[in-house]
Amino acid sequence: MKIFYKDAMAPVDLPGNYSKSPSKPRRFVEFLRNTAVSDHVGVSDNFGPVNRDHMLLAHEERYVDAFLTGEGYLASSSGLKWSPEFRDSVLLTNGCLLHAIESAVDGPGNLTMAPVSGFHHARPSGGSGFCTLSGQVISALELYGRRGLRGAWVDLDAHFGNSIGDSVGFAPDLAKAIPVNINPTGSGERYLHDLTDSMCDLRARVLNGEIDYICVAHGADSHEWDQLGGQVTTDEWLRASEITYNMIALLRTDMPSFPVTLSLFGGYRDDHPESVLGLHTMDVASALRNLGGVEGLDHYREEVRHP
Ligand SMILES: [Zn+2]
Repeated sequence: MKIFYKDAMAPVDLPGNYSKSPSKPRRFVEFLRNTAVSDHVGVSDNFGPVNRDHMLLAHEERYVDAFLTGEGYLASSSGLKWSPEFRDSVLLTNGCLLHAIESAVDGPGNLTMAPVSGFHHARPSGGSGFCTLSGQVISALELYGRRGLRGAWVDLDAHFGNSIGDSVGFAPDLAKAIPVNINPTGSGERYLHDLTDSMCDLRARVLNGEIDYICVAHGADSHEWDQLGGQVTTDEWLRASEITYNMIALLRTDMPSFPVTLSLFGGYRDDHPESVLGLHTMDVASALRNLGGVEGLDHYREEVRHP
């Protein structure tokens, strides 16, 4: 698996910001380096930021220019304080996602990761809920416009990813660029059933030639001990990874190099932030086992500590 990362993606946490998500790419990559998972991933810094034209695919000009200059209330509409470093980090996390998806499509290996979050609540007119730019929308529209690629999102964050649905009126091509956006509902077994049904449908649509890549965002805030979420126990959270990557492995028996990109999304525990990183690491381990046949990477459960 190839992970796209550079330090400038993750500014030092700014005082006064509730969300520690801006620094998560750095903390995640550092955490991963001290696990056996790191033997099976390569880190690449070969990507750049999104530009103004990319941003305009998903956002109104008024918001794009406010965020680029830092002028006006819209610049901080995500709830995160604006600074030039923060702006540059957001442009890079969005560029990272775009590049990771395109790199998965082009292979080799067809399995990549953008260790990023902060996209799925943003709207064409502004940021919302710690999400600044609609990275999913920008990536999808760029790849659809330039190469005709159509993607599916498996959004396992605790919170509904409204960004895609909210952007279809602004960018009608989005319905073709992201035909599937899975957000399981309910909790516990119901949540897992809903995910299983959706993944079965997704597999059928892939085999039918309707989808060109899948992105998985297993947010750690769907875990029961996260202060902003809590749909599933540790076991259930891990089963959600298994259900997702199992189904992708199954469809890869018919389409061996089908492209898959992972990302992070939410996870807010401040009593024990390592729990969040442990969950994300186990999600990567599940992907590597199911899609790469890599065994023996399930040691990070003890990182997920009871509050
Ligand atoms: Zn969330």
